[in-house]
Amino acid sequence: MAYDYDLFVIGAGSGGVRAARLAAELGARVGIAEEYRIGGTCVIRGCVPKKLLVYGSRYRTEFADARGFGWTCENESFAWLTLIGNVHREVDRLNGVYTRTLEKAGVDRFLTRASLEDPHTVKLVDRDGAITAKTILVATGSHPVTPELPGKEHLISSNQCFELEQLPASIVIIGAGYIGMEFASIFRGFGVAVTVLYRGDQVLREFDMDLRDGLAEAMRNRGIDLRMDTDVASVEKEGQGYRVHLKRGGAIAADLVMAATGRAPSTSAFGLQQAGVDLGWNGHIVVDEFCKSSVDSIYAVGDVTDSKNLTPVAIHEATAFAETLFNGKPTPVDYTSIPTAVFSQPELGTVGLSEEKAREMHGDGAIDIYKTSFRPLRSMISGRDERMLMKLVVDMKTDKVLGVHVLGSDAAEIVQMAAVAMRLGVTKDQLDKTMALHPSAAEELVTLRHKWEMPAPVAGSDAAA
Ligand code: NDP
Repeated sequence: MAYDYDLFVIGAGSGGVRAARLAAELGARVGIAEEYRIGGTCVIRGCVPKKLLVYGSRYRTEFADARGFGWTCENESFAWLTLIGNVHREVDRLNGVYTRTLEKAGVDRFLTRASLEDPHTVKLVDRDGAITAKTILVATGSHPVTPELPGKEHLISSNQCFELEQLPASIVIIGAGYIGMEFASIFRGFGVAVTVLYRGDQVLREFDMDLRDGLAEAMRNRGIDLRMDTDVASVEKEGQGYRVHLKRGGAIAADLVMAATGRAPSTSAFGLQQAGVDLGWNGHIVVDEFCKSSVDSIYAVGDVTDSKNLTPVAIHEATAFAETLFNGKPTPVDYTSIPTAVFSQPELGTVGLSEEKAREMHGDGAIDIYKTSFRPLRSMISGRDERMLMKLVVDMKTDKVLGVHVLGSDAAEIVQMAAVAMRLGVTKDQLDKTMALHPSAAEELVTLRHKWEMPAPVAGSDAAA
């Protein structure tokens, strides 16, 4: 059968654009549909604009730290509209870059919503007729989810943070994951009174406990009100703002209330199930190692599947997909050693296993821990009383480094490089033999000589009981 396209991609975010461009460059006839803006969450209302806000919000501490270095910073003031206007201009520029990339590769673009009619047919809502394709790639990403509670219509998500016409004086953030920690730090940096409400006992579940503890302490010291074991009962409108009622009693008033309670795969209402595509526990598209769904002609990459919701993961999957289908090189996706960072203040970067996960997988007696907590050189003069944390999780038997964890300035940059070493199977001995770069913070990772000993339980204490 003759199809209109070799490949039709639904969703022009990081994964969709990469797959479309590579397939077209490899000679395929490619079409792509996007209902919002080319670039997707990462470029339009995620990683990129968020990181620009992070940069903007850091100046508050930069000004404070500058004084010890002899600078006089007086009458600093911040204009939200200047920053957000500049952020939007950069987003527009990137949107143009992505669009031109597709254009140059010869990909046909349809700025409208698409739905599946059958395993080879796509319907575009803004026109009659249908488009057929030999292969369809679903790269529709994910969307923020809001908790089911009375007053949930009052909650904003990270999406609306990029559209605020003015900064609130106060904000309550529900959730202490990536977005909760990042936006708490951003808002605090701009001088907003921030309260974070989290149902668990410590922020950033699943990260290494030392980093979680260190980050929570540092954020509190920066003036963020972090409340653990706190569930929200309801949210009600009160005057110009809102009142957040807590399940254990009490309430908090704030100008804005934000849900940072996770994201769900965008798989509803565009015909996936009618086309026979199997969906998983939270509605994600179930795929095999080659990103193929339960339907032979339909593939999926990125947040719409159950892999890690990170842009580079989506891009990796898209590249593997294009290699497999359009370059004759079956390429399974390799998920080993995915580095990740939380752009909180201070920043946190991590790759590999947390100490807790490593102990669970390898056993308590099979893991060596090396860690250090120190005041960076710069703090000696700035007077900032914030410690940097570096930690290695090592397999005792093989000496292989299983995890690298950093809390503090440039954690993301440091961990990206550590991920290269881990990918190559670096051992602790090889780190020890690596020449240090002095003076730097990262040199601590190659000069950690002493194993951390778990404190022995004290007789008569709870731990010994
Ligand atoms: P996360 O999964 O990171 O965090 C969600 C938070 O909300 C957790 O603290 C979670 O608690 C809590 N939560 C979930 N459901 C409820 C509920 N019903 N009521 C109260 N609290 C709830 O999601 P985010 O929204 O922060 O981010 C979404 C994804 O986007 C991330 O997982 C990440 O993959 C990606 N992302 C990556 C970034 C980066 O790379 N720097 C930046 C931003 C996002 P609990 O821990 O108990 O489940």
